[in-house]
Amino acid sequence: MRVIVIGCGLAGITTAYYLRLLGAEVTVLDRSAAPAREASYANGGMLTPSLADPWNSPGAFGMLLRSVGREDASLLLRPSALTSLLGWGLRFHASSSRDAFESAYLNNVRLALYSQTTLRELLQTHPLEFEYAPDGTIKVFADQGAFEQGRLVAHWLKQAQLHHREMNRDQLLEFEPALAPAAERLAGGIHFPGDEVGNARLFCEALKAIAEDAGAVFRFSEQILEVNRRGRRIESLVTPRETLTADAYVLAAGAYSWPLGKMFGLRVPVRPLKGYSLTVPVGDDAVGDRAVGDKIVVPRYAVVDDTLHAAVVPLGGNKLRVAGTAEFAGFDVSLTPKRLANLRALLDQLYPLITAEQGSIESWCGLRPVTPDGMPLLGATARDNVYLNTGHGALGWTQACGSGQAVAQLVMGQTPDEDVSAFAPARFR
Ligand SMILES: Cc1cc2nc3c(=O)[nH]c(=O)nc-3n(C[C@H](O)[C@H](O)[C@H](O)COP(=O)(O)OP(=O)(O)OC[C@H]3O[C@@H](n4cnc5c(N)ncnc54)[C@H](O)[C@@H]3O)c2cc1C
Repeated sequence: MRVIVIGCGLAGITTAYYLRLLGAEVTVLDRSAAPAREASYANGGMLTPSLADPWNSPGAFGMLLRSVGREDASLLLRPSALTSLLGWGLRFHASSSRDAFESAYLNNVRLALYSQTTLRELLQTHPLEFEYAPDGTIKVFADQGAFEQGRLVAHWLKQAQLHHREMNRDQLLEFEPALAPAAERLAGGIHFPGDEVGNARLFCEALKAIAEDAGAVFRFSEQILEVNRRGRRIESLVTPRETLTADAYVLAAGAYSWPLGKMFGLRVPVRPLKGYSLTVPVGDDAVGDRAVGDKIVVPRYAVVDDTLHAAVVPLGGNKLRVAGTAEFAGFDVSLTPKRLANLRALLDQLYPLITAEQGSIESWCGLRPVTPDGMPLLGATARDNVYLNTGHGALGWTQACGSGQAVAQLVMGQTPDEDVSAFAPARFR
């Protein structure tokens, strides 16, 4: 079986790895010069079944409409993106009922947990270096009302085997002493011990090397000029260098799966949802005089601010990744200073003594591929030999390995180890 995977971010590289493992002849084609140069480059780095809620919670649609012009809104709509969201937005709205939201939430948790198991199995075979830390994450709350709400959600998640520990302010500070300078603005926190963190870009680069050693072929800086179809099948792809043929094609091009899908004669219901990150060095130079006794306290746990949909994540012991915010702005990838300032403000609030110079901070933005119901698109399409692995939104790292393995099994005509029928693209036909 010859398979072409388009896209070498988290979705594409995991699919390619598992396809190769199942014996397929795999070619990965990407227009970027290296793996993970789009949304998978500098994301929040969190593998969080605990944060599997889709963006379209009940009430989110109204919030989105009211967000126009509000640079501080966690979910922002730019007027320039309105036309591209017309039909898609109605589906987003339709998926915002309480029942639809809860069902998508639980499906996402299930896929996230399966994905963690898959990742751990992969690491037993290949102990990859990607700043992996399975310490859990902490959700923090600024007031008692938000804390109560967070506790209700955490209890509700127990039905999906997600465990947590609630902490009042004192317990929280004992657990994560680095938060001490922010004590005044914290009502409490919830630790989700099953969550993990890791550097998505390093993971993609390392897995690419493994897949290549195993025989997968990678073609970077490659454009698709034309897609040749015959009936319901795709026959070949034309690039500036050659014509490539395969038995099956997997679209894993992130937010760009939407325009790419058009070339394949498919309507792929993903839209770009822009997010930002700051990568802040921490070490003796970057951490101020914050100390407990004589010991400088560098954050250990990823801390999630639920209200802002943003997080501060320690990675590799020498940096913090501050990531979050969401904005419908089409395919615009310019860095908006005000949105970056919102992330900087979160960092300053949580860790006021971290004194990294602005010049040492790396700013970045990426486009999450988002579906109207907040669940990814995994599997067969209306074209007989085309499959999707995209639409993971804010969970593309969390759900990467499970999605990659399941899609590879579907392409190979196998029954996936995990039932992923809820994620079938056919639900939008
Ligand atoms: C700020 C931010 C923070 C995030 N934090 C987290 C987090 O903490 N945890 C989590 O689970 N997820 C997080 N996410 C989401 C996650 O990063 C994405 O869901 C994931 O990276 C999507 O991976 P992908 O492979 O689908 O897409 P991408 O990484 O965008 O990869 C798509 C690839 O396709 C290629 N491509 C596109 N078009 C073409 C074409 N026409 N021809 C050839 N190649 C093409 C691109 O070059 C790219 O390499 C975050 C996202 C953002 C933006």
